[in-house]
Amino acid sequence: MIKKAKRVFVFGFVQESNAFNPVLAKIDAFEGFGIYRGEEIFSSGAHCGVTIEGAIQVLNENGYEVVGGVVMRAGSGGPVDSALIKEFCDENLKLLKDAGDVCGVVASLHGATVSDTSFDVCGDILQGVREVVGEKAVISAAFDLHANITEKIKVNADYVCGYQTYPHLDLREVGIRAAKRVVNHFKNGKSSVAYSHVPVIAPAHAYSTEKGKLNSLMGRAKDMATAGVIEDYSIFQVQPWLDVNEMSATVVIAAKDEDTAKRAAELLAKELFSIRADLQGSPLFTIEEVIDIALENKTGKPIVLVDSADSPNAGACGDSVAMLEQLLKVKDKISCALAVIDKNAVDKAFELGVGGVGTFTLGASLAPKLTKPVTVENATVKSLHDGVFYLFGPQEKGERRDIGKTAVLKVGKILIQVSYYGCANGDKAFYHTFGINPETTDLVCVKACTSFRAGYETFSAQICNTQTPGAAAPVLQTLPYEYRPKPLYPFEEITIDSVTAPKIYR
Ligand SMILES: [Zn+2]
Repeated sequence: MIKKAKRVFVFGFVQESNAFNPVLAKIDAFEGFGIYRGEEIFSSGAHCGVTIEGAIQVLNENGYEVVGGVVMRAGSGGPVDSALIKEFCDENLKLLKDAGDVCGVVASLHGATVSDTSFDVCGDILQGVREVVGEKAVISAAFDLHANITEKIKVNADYVCGYQTYPHLDLREVGIRAAKRVVNHFKNGKSSVAYSHVPVIAPAHAYSTEKGKLNSLMGRAKDMATAGVIEDYSIFQVQPWLDVNEMSATVVIAAKDEDTAKRAAELLAKELFSIRADLQGSPLFTIEEVIDIALENKTGKPIVLVDSADSPNAGACGDSVAMLEQLLKVKDKISCALAVIDKNAVDKAFELGVGGVGTFTLGASLAPKLTKPVTVENATVKSLHDGVFYLFGPQEKGERRDIGKTAVLKVGKILIQVSYYGCANGDKAFYHTFGINPETTDLVCVKACTSFRAGYETFSAQICNTQTPGAAAPVLQTLPYEYRPKPLYPFEEITIDSVTAPKIYR
């Protein structure tokens, strides 16, 4: 008799949605990362995502035959076009059916993905997979730390693993852990996975796993895993710019036995409850305060105005010039740099040509409800560009980015970089490539939450997290949530009783 192959199906769908961004994410958002199908996921290496690569490596090393599904990834953005998700599921499930008998599935997902018709895209995807593989196959899913772990996810996935770091440094490790759950399942038997929810959300700029209370909490979980008490842990801080009816932070513990998993989940969830205020961060500067700091700054180094509310990395539109009105009042006193997406303004600059002077109305071109446009008179077109640049690093050093046709406008001592498209703009190359040196400005605006720190901390006088409007507004109370559950901290005060008792689903 021929021994039945131990076959595992591997696929991925990764996008982080910001419900307040009105621009639907369509196929072009995914094509930039490359879309891989079937066998292509093996030959693409890290291009297909290091999470997938790590998972495949573990499965191969343990003698499993890996069958490729579809892998699609995008950056953060608005909700995903539901037609695109349907196409993904149809194609992915066809490949899954064609794979025949599989004993397991490893999925690489984000966990904070919504569409124009669903609050829970990842739950939907896992449910579709479960319907095909039935109850016998093991489903193990890797998620971002900012995943929203829903009932549908818990009911359909046997194992759930999330990044343990923020900033995210363990993309490969989470794939390895998810695959190891499958390997362990067949080697040592089923583990117990306990979930406990804490109704807390927090703005992403306000915490990190590198220091502070979240670092201590992660450390406690890590100690339990290192000591062999538990097998795996994830402490999810849900991406706060979702507006969905199920929304919470979640502790997920895998252990050999039920009692241990539940006890650890309860302990960590209660600690997470106790640090809820610390996760909200310290008070933010107003735009006026940051400008005053820049006016008084004598260090010769720039002040950084952090406009995380409009961070493309957090799924915002990148079309806000919320600080420009105030900056125009000091345009001859301090040198400033800012960037905005505005196609019409770029077209106008190209029509005028370098050296041309005109009146530009900038901003609020994509999300007119979130911010207001600002009119700039007598702006000179300083330079025009094709918009391609290469990151200086340290993160993603050398990677190519393309923000489309780009113009630099000058009014007084203010330089405004206007482009067709946006991208995470925390890398110094984002300005440098277009003739703007952030190191020699008095005030530089950066649309990012945390990613810019590695580059900017080295040369800036002060970094000011600033209260600005936008789809990723750091003051969550300023956003028009419609569907979120109640109570949810920080909107409502909560008690220890709102931490859900640890529960095992499968
Ligand atoms: Zn994340």
